[in-house]
Amino acid sequence: MPGHRIAKFDIHLVASPVPGNFADSTRKVETIGLLVLRVTTDQGLEGIGITYHEVGGEATRELIRHDIAPRLIGRDPFETDALWHELFHYLRGVGRKGLTFCALSAVDIALWDLKGKILGMPLHRLLGGNRTRVPVYASGGWTSYDDDQLVDEMKGMVARGFRHIKFKVGVDGGRDTRRDAIRVRKVRDAVGPEIHLLVDANNCFDAARAVQLANEIRECRITLFEEPVFADDIPGLARFRRGTDIPLGTGEHEYTKFGVRDLLLAEAADFVQADGARAGGYTEMLKIAALTQAFNVAFAPHAMENIHLPLAAALPNVPFLERLLMFEPVTALVFRDAPVPVDGYMHVNDRPGLGLELNLDFVRAADARGG
Ligand SMILES: [Mg+2]
Repeated sequence: MPGHRIAKFDIHLVASPVPGNFADSTRKVETIGLLVLRVTTDQGLEGIGITYHEVGGEATRELIRHDIAPRLIGRDPFETDALWHELFHYLRGVGRKGLTFCALSAVDIALWDLKGKILGMPLHRLLGGNRTRVPVYASGGWTSYDDDQLVDEMKGMVARGFRHIKFKVGVDGGRDTRRDAIRVRKVRDAVGPEIHLLVDANNCFDAARAVQLANEIRECRITLFEEPVFADDIPGLARFRRGTDIPLGTGEHEYTKFGVRDLLLAEAADFVQADGARAGGYTEMLKIAALTQAFNVAFAPHAMENIHLPLAAALPNVPFLERLLMFEPVTALVFRDAPVPVDGYMHVNDRPGLGLELNLDFVRAADARGG
């Protein structure tokens, strides 16, 4: 088989306004931005890479177009590890987190998609998996909802077949934990004892108040308490973990194996939630996965369930993926036939690579409208 060489990069921005009132404890969400990358080989195969943002999409696109793409033209897409390290050292002076890594992640994902397509092999097989389905939780329940809206959305998730559901705590910016405790109890009463409840504080508490809330809602049998304190407050995360037996999730704001190493050494996570579309693509997620296995904690990648599904199918310590209901409309437009959950599970397919097909008409039109 003559080797494919990387020949072309096409980068599209898709902005999807979020109408209505969607806020968590620390911010209001107004737009979902996706960066859709197409890397084409000299033999015409195309790999798809994805990253996402609320701000900074144009900067990420420019970093790929101006700085990363020229270094990769003519290169072998199978050299994912070598190319990752080359790019890491090329870019390290301007960022080992943030937009730089969003760019690197999208590129790495596209190269892995290409490897699967060149081999005619689904990525979940190439990554070594044999699971055909992975549990997925529905994620929403914004703090901007009143109690009835919150309970209605959670009941709707259960009616759709989800057995794990996640909602926000930290109403009024985290100033009223008594209200949070009431809301958690209302959800538990509404969905019954069998459903797994996950709560997400989006960085809003200090450790003492987070522990106080955790102990107040302990009777509601919480599967995971996410980001109780500021993501960089690793001592605070560790203090939270010592103060409650509710398992701690964190890591959606972490990048690379180095960031996850620090969380694990500090005993500051029970579920590591690094996100492959930001943290460094599949190449880095495999290394993060190895770290979580070495420390015997769960790996539960944040959001982007269609990107994480092949990886999750290959990793025994991924208990579930996350499906943000807010992303469902734009995901359905960007991809043709992207997998949808059935009875609370995402099922892998047998198409090569990621198994995703872009709806290029939509993607191009959205990009032309200005992202
Ligand atoms: Mg979160």
